Amino acid sequence: MYAQVIIDQDAKALDRVFEYIIPDDMDLSIGMRVYVPLGSRVLQGFIIGIDENCEYDKAKLKSIISKIEDFSAIKPEMLKLMEFMADKNHLKLASILRLFLPSEMREGKVKELFKTYYLLVPDVQITLSKSAKKQFEIVEALKNGKQSAIELGEKFGYSAIKALLLKGYIQKSYEEVKRSPFIIVDKDKRVKLNDSQKDAITKIRENKTYLLHGVTGSGKTEIYMNLIERTLTEGKNAIMLVPEISLTPQIMSNFKGRFGDSVALLHSGLSAGERFDEWKRLFSGEAKIAIGARSAIFAPLENLGMIIIDEEHEASYISESNPRYDTHDVAQFRARFNGCPLVLGSATPSIETYKNAKDGEFELIELPLRANGRPLPPVQIVDMMEEIRRGNSSIFSNQLLADLANVINGKKQAMIFINRRGYSSFMRCRDCGYIAKCSDCDVSLVYHREDNRLKCHYCGKQFKVLSKCPNCGSDKIKYGAVGTEQIVTKLKEYFPEVKILRMDNDTTSTKNAHQKILNEFKVSKPAILVGTQMIAKGHDFEDVTLVGIVDADQSLYHTDYRSTERTFQLITQVAGRAGRSVNEGKVVLQTYSPRHYVYKFAANYDYKGFYKKEINIRQTAQFPPFTRILRVLFSDYDENYVRELLKICYTEIEGFENEYGDEIIYLDAMKSPIKRIQDKYRYQIMMRMKLAKADEIENRIFRIVDRASKTSVFFEVNPQNLS
Ligand code: ADP
Ligand code: ZN
Ligand code: ZN
Repeated sequence: MYAQVIIDQDAKALDRVFEYIIPDDMDLSIGMRVYVPLGSRVLQGFIIGIDENCEYDKAKLKSIISKIEDFSAIKPEMLKLMEFMADKNHLKLASILRLFLPSEMREGKVKELFKTYYLLVPDVQITLSKSAKKQFEIVEALKNGKQSAIELGEKFGYSAIKALLLKGYIQKSYEEVKRSPFIIVDKDKRVKLNDSQKDAITKIRENKTYLLHGVTGSGKTEIYMNLIERTLTEGKNAIMLVPEISLTPQIMSNFKGRFGDSVALLHSGLSAGERFDEWKRLFSGEAKIAIGARSAIFAPLENLGMIIIDEEHEASYISESNPRYDTHDVAQFRARFNGCPLVLGSATPSIETYKNAKDGEFELIELPLRANGRPLPPVQIVDMMEEIRRGNSSIFSNQLLADLANVINGKKQAMIFINRRGYSSFMRCRDCGYIAKCSDCDVSLVYHREDNRLKCHYCGKQFKVLSKCPNCGSDKIKYGAVGTEQIVTKLKEYFPEVKILRMDNDTTSTKNAHQKILNEFKVSKPAILVGTQMIAKGHDFEDVTLVGIVDADQSLYHTDYRSTERTFQLITQVAGRAGRSVNEGKVVLQTYSPRHYVYKFAANYDYKGFYKKEINIRQTAQFPPFTRILRVLFSDYDENYVRELLKICYTEIEGFENEYGDEIIYLDAMKSPIKRIQDKYRYQIMMRMKLAKADEIENRIFRIVDRASKTSVFFEVNPQNLS
């Protein structure tokens, strides 16, 4: 018999199926991991097929050396998923298979954790001399049953134990200990479902995709829990994805409260050992619900009855580092494979998802009201240009300061949100609000410190940094923005006696830091929590009566066709943190562009109005979801090599413009906006095309690039970040 093997190496030259002889005495099955010889090396590989025949010359085939584990780590569904992803995302097979296993398992770094016990050897006659008092005591203790080695050692000393071991009176036993992530388990708060929730649960049964569009606080989480409960009673398993780790503590607490040990948690914030153990609990069937960030979509669960993507619009569902994939595609695949529903939940669905629902591809379920009957908090838009004209050039408007003072007097809580997505910054005139934009593309330019230039991320055009505002002549034209730290410092000046907490990338780099900050906030009153988008979602604090959005525009000018959409989503999410309980809530939104349409719709919680406007703009400007943007990113340490490679590929691809005519809206090759990252030079082909021929064009480009390149090239569809 012969095995088809994929070598577990991230090298382009090895990205194909190798054949090996299966030794007669080796019992192998598809999906197992094995050691195989390759040249003079021994490498790990995955068996993806077993056959009586082979394609390669039999005489030259080598034999599999041994198995790594005794079980098939890769299940049949995942092999099909591998094919799907290789085809859709142009990824190397090994790099896909790696997604399916905890890396700890592949690298063999983490082993199971065992606890050692001592027990009496059964049916042995024990005779001890009178002087061996300690040994006697140990034997007496063990007559009641096994004892932990550490405790026994501490109590009676290790030499007595050793003596008993040598005499053959006692023996060791090992029991596996599962490391489980630290979670505060909430009391299970079961609520009586309202009619909208009941309706939703009744509808979500079929093998299709549902968009659950419900305002913040409409009780979507309760729906998820009920759907999963039903799934379990049907004897099936479920996956639920949440966008960010900062979100998981609360969701996990809720789910642990209801489902106990049936829940396993998978995300990158876990220690290696914890992740491995959680993965194994799912693999063995001990846990039936996988909850986690993006990568939990690869949970080793069979017989799925429900897949849920909460906050489906979040950018974190798209993997931007290699291997690049969209979690939505994977979820679709797994739902179709298992014949189960896929639920996309959001208060602000992505434009693309909502269009799919409108077009009838997804079934739309709406929850327009908050579950507890509370109104959504009113949003007050504050014009920061007006503040400046009135002589207030601080980060805070007078309105926000007055409202903060109110919160503090009432011993309530406030959240101050600042939007710091990505690293780039735009140039803005502090006097008239002018923003530097690309003359060709109408997106904001990004300031690049390394060469002191403004660049357009869509066409690569470069502009000199402005010293005067072209609109009003002011020299207060600046780039950059305020950060959380600066806000905390300022707030402390205004409110020295108040507890002020900060949550951003800097303060949450250590394990469980998120949860610690949130727990501290929960018990402090009055208190102010200052944070980035981390505080925007999911948290449910009863006493938050004020949400301040300090510089709402930052995502608006974020140089991306999705900028407005992102701004709308962020404002809605942040606003949803206020007034969730009996207390009245309020949102203060500070902006330098108060007349931008996004603020009007966001302040009225008018998703549909926003969608209508935005989808029209996308159609007119020919941006996704009406078109597809493709970036082919070449990068290498050797600049000459990348430049040559780009040239070779582009010479062939350039001709597509004639061949496909109108189908191609934009096509060009250029240096990437950031020319060099981690010592690698970056060049790219940027392309925008209509949808009709997009798959065909993409596949042709893939083949051209694949043939020409000896190293990896990245294909990105509708990328989130074009730096
Ligand atoms: P969402 O996920 O849509 O933002 P949640 O599920 O977090 O909303 O619910 C918001 C709040 O409403 C929670 O405190 C939840 O316990 C409560 N809630 C949910 N469903 C009901 C219900 N049927 N009756 C009363 N309260 C509910
Ligand atoms: Zn100006
Ligand atoms: Zn441009």
